[in-house]
Amino acid sequence: MQTYFIELSYLLASILFILGLKGLSHPETAKRGMHLAEFGMLMAIIGTLMHHEIVTYTWILAGLAIGSVVGLAMGVWVPMTAMPQRTALSHAFGALAAALVGVAEYLKGAGHLDTVTMSALGFEVMLGSLTTTGSLLAFAKLQGMVRGTPMTYKGQNVFNMLLLATTVGIFIYLVINPGSMTLFFIMAGLAFVFGLLLVMPIGSADMPVVMSLLNSYAGLASAATGFVLSNKVLIIAGTLDGFSGFILSILMCRAMNRSITNVLFGAFGSATTAGESGEQQGSMREVGLEDIATQLAYANKVVFVPGYGLATAQAQHAVRELADVLEKRGVTVKYGIHPVAGRMPGHMNVLLAEANVPYSSLYELEQINPEFATTDVSVVIGANDVVNPDARDNPSSPIAGMPILEVDRSKSVVVLKRGQGKGFSGLENPLFFKPVTGMLYGDAKDTLTRLVQAVQHA
Ligand code: NAP
Repeated sequence: MQTYFIELSYLLASILFILGLKGLSHPETAKRGMHLAEFGMLMAIIGTLMHHEIVTYTWILAGLAIGSVVGLAMGVWVPMTAMPQRTALSHAFGALAAALVGVAEYLKGAGHLDTVTMSALGFEVMLGSLTTTGSLLAFAKLQGMVRGTPMTYKGQNVFNMLLLATTVGIFIYLVINPGSMTLFFIMAGLAFVFGLLLVMPIGSADMPVVMSLLNSYAGLASAATGFVLSNKVLIIAGTLDGFSGFILSILMCRAMNRSITNVLFGAFGSATTAGESGEQQGSMREVGLEDIATQLAYANKVVFVPGYGLATAQAQHAVRELADVLEKRGVTVKYGIHPVAGRMPGHMNVLLAEANVPYSSLYELEQINPEFATTDVSVVIGANDVVNPDARDNPSSPIAGMPILEVDRSKSVVVLKRGQGKGFSGLENPLFFKPVTGMLYGDAKDTLTRLVQAVQHA
């Protein structure tokens, strides 16, 4: 009876995870998807707590209490802008748990493990360990605790490959001779070091790709744990996690027209790649706030293009207010959303949803690009790389081929940014030097708030 209940709760949990993932594939159903996945997790936990192997609940309850308090605090106090580093920290904990389960199972088996169990266990410890340190470094880079730009040295890729080959070599040896405990811990230690070295040469804006890849490793490590523990829900959830993370990494790379190897080994955003940027073309034209307010107030169609600067300025509510006053005056307002604007997938969608911007006003790249020709004013808010026309016009640009929001085709472009700072790629942006473009300097939130007042009086 107990076994049936466990199997039933695991089956239900697996179905809910799949439905949850399906829900997450669209912003309108994302919230429901999240709730379904949460309910699935509850089912999985209840099923696990029913296991007859459990001798005492004391430690489990202690873990549950600590985890709930930490989780609740993170959910309540971590701001939206810190979501990428929060995710990195969660990955690190999840992966560490998988690695520790692997170590415990190895010690329990005391070297007498069959080939299949040792393969799954070794895989779990190796991936779990490298994901732990890789995610911790990703967290530190995103949180600004260590330098966010790529850290490189001569022969780095060769050294990393050699280290990986040695770790995998030990793993293979252990599958054949599981009894060598010293080698088991050396493998785990090397994997911990490899995780750090893997993330070191990657710039912080590429972290979402790396994290989604690390997430995929953590998922596969969990699936391996499922094989070791003969736990079906872990196998299913781990595999879903593993492959969805991998697919997301590929999609992000495609949106930047870069290969996954370029992200992992190209040290993109470092001084070397940035040095290939073009010369300055003329000078930027600064425009007054009142002039821009008049342009906006008397426009037929305005498109807002948010980027990373909107997130750092926390200007999502201010842009919504500006849209409201413009719409009240009969202006059509749309938002152009680039798939990799900001620092994590869906970054702009999350921020704008927080400010209650209706989903129907958000337009994806393919939908909005044909509309720029009929747009009176495009307002670029803290975006840079995702509107860089060099990606379209200059085949020698390091970002050549990356799909962009073609704001330069609008009748007028207004760029809100603090100064002459470059985007993540470190490249100059010819858009800022075009005659059609006017620059309005200042923190995006402050500028937008002042624009709201100016439009009201226009
Ligand atoms: P971006 O190219 O990084 O540019 C952001 C701009 O915002 C900067 O030029 C900066 O100029 C301005 N800014 C910063 N703080 C501001 C503030 N408080 N107020 C006003 N402006 C501010 O951003 P993006 O156009 O969104 O492009 C995202 C980049 O990240 C792309 O290169 C993309 O490939 C990369 N990336 C993203 C993801 C993802 O999942 N989203 C994944 C991998 C890589 P000032 O300093 O002059 O203000």
